Amino acid sequence: MTTEPMSAEQRERYDRQIRLPTVTEAGQQTLLDARVLVIGVGGLGSPVAIYLAAAGIGHLVLSDFDIVESSNLQRQIIHTEHTVGQLKVDSAKQFIASLSPNTQVTTIDHELTDGELIEQVELADVVVDCVDNFPSRFELNRVCTKMKKPLVSGAAIRQEGQISTYDSRDKNSPCYQCLYPDVGLESVTCAMEGVLAPVVGIIGTMQAQETINVLLGRPALVGTLLLLDAQYLEWQRMKLPKNPNCPTCSET
Ligand SMILES: [Zn+2]
Repeated sequence: MTTEPMSAEQRERYDRQIRLPTVTEAGQQTLLDARVLVIGVGGLGSPVAIYLAAAGIGHLVLSDFDIVESSNLQRQIIHTEHTVGQLKVDSAKQFIASLSPNTQVTTIDHELTDGELIEQVELADVVVDCVDNFPSRFELNRVCTKMKKPLVSGAAIRQEGQISTYDSRDKNSPCYQCLYPDVGLESVTCAMEGVLAPVVGIIGTMQAQETINVLLGRPALVGTLLLLDAQYLEWQRMKLPKNPNCPTCSET
């Protein structure tokens, strides 16, 4: 983690955040010094990457091995007509470069697994789960739990979404597997079921906010699951208890 004092340009750019008593110059410096790992640069990862870059996160590591297709553009707002056919991580990197010189972007354009996943999770201050399938979520959850890294997890399909934070630094925090004990769950995908554009925007933007909350030491969703019904714009807030028999996060 590099700690370079803020420049006059940065002070001006982030003025509206620095004014907040919950951020201040010290908090903005924390954001500039932060390294965030974003797994998946699709519907959720797009607003996550855009808002984190805009807010001045110093280093984003983007992991995705997919190519931008025209059917992505309906909701994956970091990609454009001009980047169809390119790797999503390259497309996202170009967008962020046009937005801000203050965010360094590292791209990973192959499946992040095993030792490399462990290494990247260890280097990150926060991990943001923007993947679209259960096996990847379970693996990410296992690694984050083991490495004691906070995981801000979001999901969206049809007109429904959910978000929670799993932070194994907090011994009372549940993990993703406490919520879904059955690791054999079959994935239903947006390709099969469809998804309305703003739903991924709402959940992804909430993930960006919660990532900043975590970086500033005030996570809002540890042990809490928010469920969105976008058709009626209704939120449900549920307590998410830790499963004492969870094979991933229980002590035994
Ligand atoms: Zn658990």
